[in-house]
Amino acid sequence: MYDKNNIFAKIIRGEIPCEKVYEDDEVLFFKDINPIAKVHVLGIPKSQCVDFSDFISKNTPTTISEFFNKTNLVIEKLGIAKDGYKVISNSGINGGQEVPHFHIHILGGQKVNLSN
Ligand code: 5GP
Repeated sequence: MYDKNNIFAKIIRGEIPCEKVYEDDEVLFFKDINPIAKVHVLGIPKSQCVDFSDFISKNTPTTISEFFNKTNLVIEKLGIAKDGYKVISNSGINGGQEVPHFHIHILGGQKVNLSN
């Protein structure tokens, strides 16, 4: 069940501010409030999806590929494509997901070691 009052739903509605990197009618990319790398951007669809599996199962192949194509455009815009990066999506309890709205983490700008 999707929680309409999760933090990212509030960010989408403009109730909580964020540092936007890219936005259109379907998606929002913004800086993580607690970055774990020099570049740490979160990407979310604006539709109500709890996690990765929910996003994939609720959407058409076109919508899914558009989300990841936009992710790639943001990676290029951030200037991290050449040196490399990580794209991660945490899902559920075992995945360590804190915010129950599907999102990806884009991490780069340095060698990213997740064990730190
Ligand atoms: P998760 O653990 O769910 O994959 O990641 C949630 C991420 O959201 C964390 O990296 C956390 O720092 C970030 N976050 C939590 N609350 C806010 C907020 O209010 N604004 C922004 N920009 N990021 C947030």
